[in-house]
Amino acid sequence: MKKAHSSPSTPCCALLYSPQFSQYLYGPSHPLRNERLALTYGLIQAYGLLELERAEIREPRLAEEAELLSFHHKEYLQALRRADAGASFPSAFTWGLETSDNPIFAGVYSWSLLITGASLSAAEAIEEGGFDFAFNMGGGLHHAHPARASGFCYLNDPAIMIHYLVKRGRRVAYLDLDAHHGDGVQEAFYDTDQVLTISLHESGETLFPGTGFPHELGWGKGKGYSVNCPLYPGTEDEIFLWAFEEIVPPLLSSFAPDILVTQLGIDTHRTDPLTNLSLTLQGYARAVTRVRGMARKWVALGGGGYNLNNVPRAWTLVWAIMNDRELDPAIPQGFLEAARSLGFTERNLWDPPATGSELAREAARKYAEKQVGIIKESIFPLQGIKG
Ligand SMILES: [Zn+2]
Repeated sequence: MKKAHSSPSTPCCALLYSPQFSQYLYGPSHPLRNERLALTYGLIQAYGLLELERAEIREPRLAEEAELLSFHHKEYLQALRRADAGASFPSAFTWGLETSDNPIFAGVYSWSLLITGASLSAAEAIEEGGFDFAFNMGGGLHHAHPARASGFCYLNDPAIMIHYLVKRGRRVAYLDLDAHHGDGVQEAFYDTDQVLTISLHESGETLFPGTGFPHELGWGKGKGYSVNCPLYPGTEDEIFLWAFEEIVPPLLSSFAPDILVTQLGIDTHRTDPLTNLSLTLQGYARAVTRVRGMARKWVALGGGGYNLNNVPRAWTLVWAIMNDRELDPAIPQGFLEAARSLGFTERNLWDPPATGSELAREAARKYAEKQVGIIKESIFPLQGIKG
């Protein structure tokens, strides 16, 4: 590990983590593997990133029910509490529970309180703890709806945490780079100009949850504050980063948030088993580095990521980028030996170059150009940006 630089301008960073993150299991055949969080913490440790001069590892608190009510319905929370025992009950399906995506497992409510509490702790680290940046790798469960579990998400920790910030009078920009549209968070702030939501994702034409098109641009006072850039299956780094550059910097610069919240799912990766985008770790790291450069105050959350070889590398990079550290491309040997039994076998931090066809690239480029064009025509004027 090499120190890029360390000066008073180096930010103070908080990592919210609990060993309890990975103690609850969705089930043996569920794609969301909570062991990915323990693996990530292990890799962060193996790279020596737990003992940094201006960073702190913090134990998260649990979320309180009153905080959940800023987004969720009371009756849904009662159902979720009932599900905590791990047994089915008659009305479970009404709340989106006990489906193959959102199984009832022992401790489902306790785990959700911990993950949401960690996102709130991350925001508090900045608001009250004097930190510049904070990272909750367990958070980013962006699909949960007010009264329904959805897409592996039971409590919408980004929405609840942003509500906490809005209550404190903050202008918040939420940037979602997960392969799936951040539908629950968009829904939470669709009619307000206090929160700008931007989501880049695989098109809803080919992927869950089927929403996230440019015409979903907000309602009432919120018109022009909901931004969606769908992308074509097979989209690689170059096109993803082009769309990112066209949209994100001008919008963040015109909105001028007090605080930036990002959902940094790594299911955009080309080897992710659930999605069809084709990013590499290099492309992902470039996007995160750009985010780092634009953020004054920043809460980073995890999100999707269903290949256990990708998640630890991606979120270790997030923590390294946050702290201005460069990493040795060779995964530390000691970590490899310990992590192999949990399914991590990657020896290199970075991926081999892209291998897609020129034809597929052209299709992805045309699709992205069209979406970016629509956003520039419809949203940029509302935000006072010259297209
Ligand atoms: Zn996702």
